[in-house]
Amino acid sequence: MLNQSVSVVGAGPGGLAIAMQLLHKGYHVDVFEKAAQVGGRTSRLTVGDFHFDLGPTFYMMPSVLEEVFTESGRDLKDYIPMTEVDPLYTLKFGDIEFKPSRNHQKTYEEIERLFPGNGNGYWRFLKREKKKFDVVSNLLRKPFGSLTDYMSKEAITALPHLDAFETVYSCLSKYFDDERLKWAFSFQSKYLGMSAWDCPGTFTMLSYLEHSGGLFHPTGGVSQVSEKMADVIRELGGTIHLNTPVKRVLVEDKQAIGVELVSGEKKYSDDVVINADFGYAMMQLFDQKDLTKYKKDKLDKKGVSLSTFMLYLGVDQPLDLPHHMILFANDYEQNVKNVTSGGILSDDDSIYVHNPSKLDPTLAPQGKSSLYVLVPVPNLEADIDWEKEQPILREKILGRLEKEPGLENLRQHIEVEKIVTPQDWQDEYNVYKGATFNLAHNLSQMMYFRPHNKFEDIDHVFLVGGGTHPGSGLPTIYQSALISARLLDQQYVIREDN
Ligand SMILES: Cc1cc2nc3c(=O)[nH]c(=O)nc-3n(C[C@H](O)[C@H](O)[C@H](O)COP(=O)(O)OP(=O)(O)OC[C@H]3O[C@@H](n4cnc5c(N)ncnc54)[C@H](O)[C@@H]3O)c2cc1C
Repeated sequence: MLNQSVSVVGAGPGGLAIAMQLLHKGYHVDVFEKAAQVGGRTSRLTVGDFHFDLGPTFYMMPSVLEEVFTESGRDLKDYIPMTEVDPLYTLKFGDIEFKPSRNHQKTYEEIERLFPGNGNGYWRFLKREKKKFDVVSNLLRKPFGSLTDYMSKEAITALPHLDAFETVYSCLSKYFDDERLKWAFSFQSKYLGMSAWDCPGTFTMLSYLEHSGGLFHPTGGVSQVSEKMADVIRELGGTIHLNTPVKRVLVEDKQAIGVELVSGEKKYSDDVVINADFGYAMMQLFDQKDLTKYKKDKLDKKGVSLSTFMLYLGVDQPLDLPHHMILFANDYEQNVKNVTSGGILSDDDSIYVHNPSKLDPTLAPQGKSSLYVLVPVPNLEADIDWEKEQPILREKILGRLEKEPGLENLRQHIEVEKIVTPQDWQDEYNVYKGATFNLAHNLSQMMYFRPHNKFEDIDHVFLVGGGTHPGSGLPTIYQSALISARLLDQQYVIREDN
């Protein structure tokens, strides 16, 4: 055991992933979590007898999580059973249902059936995006803590392959001529809380990753990944303090020396890792006088992601619906504009519906269903009174869902429900401006220009989670924890492999 101690603020995916690795390396680790359970936005929500994933509902790219487990001396397979979801999802454009699969030949045939003449574009998409992904995946593993990293030969050589100066939508337009097909391969920009018409073209790799690597359902939901990570932390001798909010980071001479809890207790440590939402942490956990790059006035100018309006519904019957589906707005481009740059609610919404109980009976009582409904909406920069809008939007969304086969009379079958609005994301879950997917991922906020893993403003502070490099989304969040664990460890130990 080393003598060094680390305080981790937040037991979200990023905080859990770094705690596991540091414990395995021999650090003393305390994780302080304000909530009664681990997982943050990737935790379990229980309403009555029904269980839901609060946030992410499927898993992509398990290789990064496998690496986190390996770096913690564990094997992911021993902890988390996952079932592949096939088809990847059901995408509904009016009467048309597109069900892409990881079986490329099947997807090609489906494209030719529904969007004749676009099949060849699919093969070109797979070939070219593979190249892009191979280049990007190397860059995502690097810390980008200095301009030298940013200007490295590897980064400069990669640039022409990244489509960084194009948008996701314009890149997709090179493969497909049908708008609906372009949307089917570009809606993934929403995982970053962005519009495909603004999001850098680099992120077409998200749909490529789905089509090449597949999507997975962990038994019990994605929240169970967080629970199992907490098990590993406890097995390795770490302590997770639940119901223990941190009031502030203790700073002396521009160096963190520990944290002060809301209870008034002070916990001293050699390093502090921040997993709480980045914007929230800058505003609430640090004294403004200790910050330079991320003081309030500078933070205010940063772009943040859109938000989500959530309905978690316990339904008293089995539902014959796909595992998950997206009901696209008729005018999807306008819908995306409204909820991103427009800052207004849409008349014509796109809706994500997750019906996991069919595949996984552990989530709802027998014969019943846990139904998760996500509607992208503006963040709190928009002037929307959520107390007033919440019941109106609920009715509108349920009315729209009742037009779907299998969901007729849904309202009569709701046994329990919970609603989460952008205001709740901010007030209950400490999410800055209710921007559920953190800082935006535009070029000026990526890689070197994103808050660094080794925090620039204060020594002995490291960042993990969606607000630092490489970005929001579970695989990148786990990657941030791999990078930050390495950087923190390098301060103390010269290992042979460094
Ligand atoms: C509705 C929704 C859907 C999403 N879907 C996907 C998806 O499909 N795929 C995907 O990859 N990503 C998705 N995400 C985004 C992202 O992967 C998750 O939000 C993820 O949980 C973020 O992880 P994190 O480590 O950055 O922080 P968080 O999960 O936010 O964890 C931060 C933790 O810090 C704690 N905390 C905050 N303040 C304090 C304090 N003062 N003291 C102590 N603890 C504190 C919080 O309680 C929380 O537990 C989704 C997010 C949401 C909200």
